[in-house]
Amino acid sequence: MKRREFICVLGSIASGYWPRRRTIIVATAAIVLLPIEVSDAGWLSDVFKSSSKQSKPSKQGKSPKHVTSRKPAALARPAASAKRRTVKLAALGPVRLKPAALKPVATRCDPSKFRIVLDVGHTAESEGAISARNVSEFVFNLRLAKRIEEKLKAEGFAETKLLLTEGKARRSLVKRVAAANNLPADLLLSIHHDSVPNKFLEDWEFEGKKSRFSDRFSGYSVFVSRNNPDFKTSLSFAELIGKEMKAQGLDYAQQYSQPIMGRHQRPLLNKETGVYRYDELIVLRKTRMAAVLLEAGSIINRDEELKMSSPERRDIISSGVTAAVKEFCEPRWAMLGPL
Ligand SMILES: [Zn+2]
Repeated sequence: MKRREFICVLGSIASGYWPRRRTIIVATAAIVLLPIEVSDAGWLSDVFKSSSKQSKPSKQGKSPKHVTSRKPAALARPAASAKRRTVKLAALGPVRLKPAALKPVATRCDPSKFRIVLDVGHTAESEGAISARNVSEFVFNLRLAKRIEEKLKAEGFAETKLLLTEGKARRSLVKRVAAANNLPADLLLSIHHDSVPNKFLEDWEFEGKKSRFSDRFSGYSVFVSRNNPDFKTSLSFAELIGKEMKAQGLDYAQQYSQPIMGRHQRPLLNKETGVYRYDELIVLRKTRMAAVLLEAGSIINRDEELKMSSPERRDIISSGVTAAVKEFCEPRWAMLGPL
């Protein structure tokens, strides 16, 4: 059975970045030495992780401009309203989150100056998962990220940037994190498409070629890392993404909370919106700004792959993400109350 080395989250630097983009600091020697996970099918859940015993990321180089990044406590809403919006916990993992860490953070920013990075998962050389019809995940990620970029810019988020990386997974990981940290960005959203562990794969033939699929699971999912230096803001944004995806009529992938996923099982932080915790993901824990990873949908599921290939689905998801960013940036979400 073919195994693919799957190293998701890091890559090289795309063109068109903010001024400091070329100063790639290789201060992250620890990252270079991190063990590389060789996973089943180039699939999210292996999106690249390292030892969970790593120390917390450095505090230096914090994302500066966005108010939520720095002084969330000072901006927090009154206790009564915050309590209403406390995230419902479904199946927390080994470490319980304090309710205070789950309060949405009141946000306010200038869209024209707000720097959101759309991280295109994987690279042309390390393409991530392979769809049921043998298209690489990287192709899906890039198409969707570009559409999201268009929509965000159309809504006034002029500083939105695509983070496109190059090279083999290990090296691209280092570059990806360094690039995001040195921009500096205010918020990072990593775009991916989902697959399944090998044990769920079945054979079929597509256009005369032996291919593999699994129609068992479908849906989007949103991941955050508790080890991100701004976990609170990350979680707030993740909740908005999940809420807006749901508002677009999409369902989240529920299998990650199930024992059948084995080592890929994740704590589900919100059973309404499909936000999971995945502490080890490097792109979430090594970046110094708030960061969220979106698995937009499954490309190993034959029906869902067709949908994910369509401009219509890209529009739906892009609209959801854009709405989430607007709400994150503007304070109105804080007035909407619970989901
Ligand atoms: Zn991926």
